[in-house]
Amino acid sequence: MGNVIDIQHLSKSFGSHEVLKDINFSVEKGEVVTVIGSSGSGKSTLLRCINLLEIPSGGEIIYHGENILQKKNLNDYRKHMGMVFQQFNLFNNWDVLNNCTVGQKKILKRSKAEAEEIALNYLKVVGMDRYVKARPHQLSGGQKQRVAIARALSMSPDALLFDEPTSALDPEMVGEVLRVMKELAQSGLTMIIVTHEMEFAREISDRIVFMDKGLIVEEGSPDELFNNPKHERTKAFLQRAL
Ligand code: ADP
Ligand code: MG
Repeated sequence: MGNVIDIQHLSKSFGSHEVLKDINFSVEKGEVVTVIGSSGSGKSTLLRCINLLEIPSGGEIIYHGENILQKKNLNDYRKHMGMVFQQFNLFNNWDVLNNCTVGQKKILKRSKAEAEEIALNYLKVVGMDRYVKARPHQLSGGQKQRVAIARALSMSPDALLFDEPTSALDPEMVGEVLRVMKELAQSGLTMIIVTHEMEFAREISDRIVFMDKGLIVEEGSPDELFNNPKHERTKAFLQRAL
């Protein structure tokens, strides 16, 4: 199938604080990879480096055979990596449909009609097509996050990155978002997910990556990582988390 991205020796420092250290990480087309680890271990920074919201300090991100960090125009790459944030990041002044079409029109240069057709299709997928005219403030957290997922999908990303997509939600709304994510995983979408929902991660992931202090300590199938962790740090984390 081939790798969507291949990250080699990636590092990221903020001042003298080295937050990511020699990260080697690749994702195959159609693969669902979940990144777990304690708060502060560098999970968000890794996702933000993958879609270049942060510029890595060193290393390579290979995309279609090229190290994109050496390219001048990073926007060309960025638009292929979708992101779903903990805090939704919807445009509050715009209705649901506009939220899902603006990027398509501005960045992908799609016509209004085409953008709306694509947006409506994904709003159906996430069960939010009846809310096209609603503004974000009229929606629950779970509904907002489902719109954010539809917006990201509408950009036809090569991979969708999720940074703790259910952490800001009331408990009763977590399930509806996880259900949508599970369907997407089963549909063959390439996904990189940061979450503390361990049962969910075990159920939907092809691979689990455990990070600690800016390093990938261990990775493997859900069964390998959850039932038979090799490293002491993984065992200690899982004992606290499970
Ligand atoms: P996680 O998502 O695993 O909780 P983060 O990637 O958010 O971890 O953070 C890893 C470390 O990097 C933390 O010590 C955090 O304080 C630091 N950090 C993250 N972003 C910045 C930033 N923009 N400036 C300075 N330090 C940062
Ligand atoms: Mg984080």
